[in-house]
Amino acid sequence: MTTLESAPAKLSNLLQETFKRSETYLSGISEQRVFPSAEHLKLLEHFNESLPERGSDALQVLSLLDTYGSPNTVASQGGRYFGFVTGGVTPAALAAKLLGTTWDQNNGARLGSPIAAKLEEVALEWLRQLFALPEGTTGALVTGATMANFVGLASARHALLKKQDWNVEEDGLFGSPEFRVIISEESHSTIFKALQMLGLGRNRVTKIPTDDQGRMCAKDLPMLDANTLICVQAGNVNTGSFDDIAEICAKAKVAGAWVHLDGAFGMWAGVSEKHQHLTAGLNQADSWAMDGHKWLNTPYDCGIAFVRDAKAHRAAFALSNAPYLQFGKTEAREPLEYTPEASRRARGIEVWAALKELGREGVSALIQRNCEQAQQFAEGFRKAGFEVPHQVVINQVMVGFGDDETTKQVIRAVQEEGVLWAGATVWKGRTYMRLSCSSHATTTEDVEQSLESIVRCARSIHD
Ligand SMILES: *Cc1c(COP(=O)(O)O)cnc(C)c1O
Repeated sequence: MTTLESAPAKLSNLLQETFKRSETYLSGISEQRVFPSAEHLKLLEHFNESLPERGSDALQVLSLLDTYGSPNTVASQGGRYFGFVTGGVTPAALAAKLLGTTWDQNNGARLGSPIAAKLEEVALEWLRQLFALPEGTTGALVTGATMANFVGLASARHALLKKQDWNVEEDGLFGSPEFRVIISEESHSTIFKALQMLGLGRNRVTKIPTDDQGRMCAKDLPMLDANTLICVQAGNVNTGSFDDIAEICAKAKVAGAWVHLDGAFGMWAGVSEKHQHLTAGLNQADSWAMDGHKWLNTPYDCGIAFVRDAKAHRAAFALSNAPYLQFGKTEAREPLEYTPEASRRARGIEVWAALKELGREGVSALIQRNCEQAQQFAEGFRKAGFEVPHQVVINQVMVGFGDDETTKQVIRAVQEEGVLWAGATVWKGRTYMRLSCSSHATTTEDVEQSLESIVRCARSIHD
């Protein structure tokens, strides 16, 4: 039988080798194709083996991973990955994740890791201040905006049913009173997923139509009342546009409705003075969801939820009984009473590191630079005669190259060339290429080089 050897010298060698390979990977990132070539993808077949009976040396495991794995990564750590909404990783956040990985802390309970609990608290408080959310707002670090939406909506479900004397955590939804859920036709697919996971239903919603930029306007809302949950969006994934946040929040406040704001990436725009007007009134909402791994450029995975009503938040996620977890005896925050998970990785380490490294100014500069890059793309496309079918308000840009089939061909050609990566989307029934500028690593030159590649591919398809 193989035993795991962890002699200090051997471990030290392994860590150094890991570090060396990581360094080589990152230093070559801007020369690497942004999406693996067909040839590289074939290397993945090396992983097609049945469960090994006998173990392998750790160095050999690492070598296999690097040899066949590294060429098959998407180069989202470089400056020319514009797919989905994908942030890079700031240097301090990367370093913090590396050290944090060697710590391997369990962020579930305070006792599981004092440093993880501390940095999560500090990071959440800094974020609360950054977005000027009300004092007393509680937060949670989860896997992404999907789960952050889930946390916000679960807290809303608790509060809205409690008003009707129903304890949903104790008694479930069978036979419960009802409340109304209002979303927009442009709500993100993960809002629907959160609703489906909470027993609120994807279809049992009132869907509000949006304007030509994908915005939900306050004037299109039905009368709100205290028995309503309304989901607003900061940052449409196609156009980057914002719902009428201030006015909708004001109406909801008067009516006593609960406003949940999905601001996965768009909420960050509020940190830039130039874009602040887009998120005005956002702190009047009742719950908020955003991502760290998008625009803050923390590593995967990292979502952030905030809830104004701390009691509702805790009621939705508190544990009912576990004799070995003695909570509630001190004032201290127990992380797992605010999240769906119990054991979880310590994301606060990286959020703290990124915020400490960037400061408010650095976050603002990052947001602003990415927004300028989106403008640079849009101007380049328009100058070349291609269609940008929306106002470019923050970091998202769509472009069309003719009919849907031609646009699809151009997207394929660009992806095959490998200088950059951008995907396809459908907007108002038509196909477009969609680019998201969300990385600190993206430079003006990256955008120029990408524009050249896109225009070249488009011209070659047109000719
Ligand atoms: C990305 C995104 C989500 C989902 O975020 P994940 O981090 O992938 O879970 C939700 N809403 C909006 C608006 C998004 O852009």
